[in-house]
Amino acid sequence: TLVLGIESSCDETGVALVRTREHGVPELLAHALHTQVAMHADYGGVVPELASRDHIRRVIPLANHVLAQAGQALAAIDVIAYTRGPGLAGALLVGAGVACALGAALGKPVLGVHHLEGHLLSPFLSADPPEFPFVALLVSGGHTQLMRVDGVGRYQLLGETIDDAAGEAFDKSAKLLGLGYPGGPALARLAEFGDDTAYKLPRPLLHSGNLDFSFAGLKTAVLTQAKKFEGAPCEQMRADLAASTQAAIVEVLVKKSLAALKATGLKRLVVAGGVGANARLRAALNAACAQRGVRVHYPELHLCTDNGAMIALAAAMRVQAGIEAPNTDYAFDVKPRWPLDMLPLAA
Ligand code: ATP
Ligand code: MG
Ligand code: FE
Repeated sequence: TLVLGIESSCDETGVALVRTREHGVPELLAHALHTQVAMHADYGGVVPELASRDHIRRVIPLANHVLAQAGQALAAIDVIAYTRGPGLAGALLVGAGVACALGAALGKPVLGVHHLEGHLLSPFLSADPPEFPFVALLVSGGHTQLMRVDGVGRYQLLGETIDDAAGEAFDKSAKLLGLGYPGGPALARLAEFGDDTAYKLPRPLLHSGNLDFSFAGLKTAVLTQAKKFEGAPCEQMRADLAASTQAAIVEVLVKKSLAALKATGLKRLVVAGGVGANARLRAALNAACAQRGVRVHYPELHLCTDNGAMIALAAAMRVQAGIEAPNTDYAFDVKPRWPLDMLPLAA
């Protein structure tokens, strides 16, 4: 089965083609991505209307590119998957509209996919794919969750952020440090030159006894520090603050992941979402897990942030697991807000 996946929930247009295999994880045949980062940079964040309009421009050329790269004809596609939510309504509508129009024109079924399930399953496309069951640390721009995952569609939320997401904490702190959007990678680069013990920043909920997170207070602490720099812009102070911020976020993510592993008794951790690209987080998790005999799995670096491959993959895995059948209804709606536990789950 050939599955075309279309991602358009935020500021990246992603298209990919995967092929299911009789045994094992579906195979990624080709994928293409257009990021709107440069377009939104002037505004310091994503402008929804501009995002939608750009998705419209990009999605068909990207699909053609992917088909050419895979050496496949349009007619060879068996299922068309799209991100149904969560995300920006207008942006989601572009992917959904294109997918359903294509499906109707080709007479092929379509399937709406949950964006976070895409992130969650993306490590299955890596060279070292995980096995069920595992604890998942989902750390993206809009979400920070720990989950117990027993199979495709078998997700149990263990804890989540009560305010900002980890990616948001990176982005907002970066903004306060005068770094561009999206700030995560920029803050991580600046942090390489800093001393991560230079500033004492809060580790909210570190000892809360549950698996929830809170990052809003960290941003406030960074703001307080950054204000003291005004008039005395010193590059080393900024690097130190960046390093201290990154260290605070990483420490909380690592400690809570370990607590989730302990609580579930599982020996496998899967990291997904954009913050999963962070080198310090990976190094800290690798060290902590090695010590405890826990295996850690990550998505390929380029598949940590939004992409079409994870959407095609999630659709393929759901269909393969018999949880959901693609449909030829072609009447679509999008779900800008859509908790993962509202998905049709496997028995
Ligand atoms: P969601 O998936 O929750 O809807 P999103 O799609 O915007 O949100 P992702 O694409 O998974 O999120 O990830 C983007 C986030 O990852 C941004 O907040 C970005 O700053 C962060 N990020 C990306 N690379 C790094 C890095 N190397 N270090 C820290 N953060 C990073
Ligand atoms: Mg993005
Ligand atoms: Fe995402």
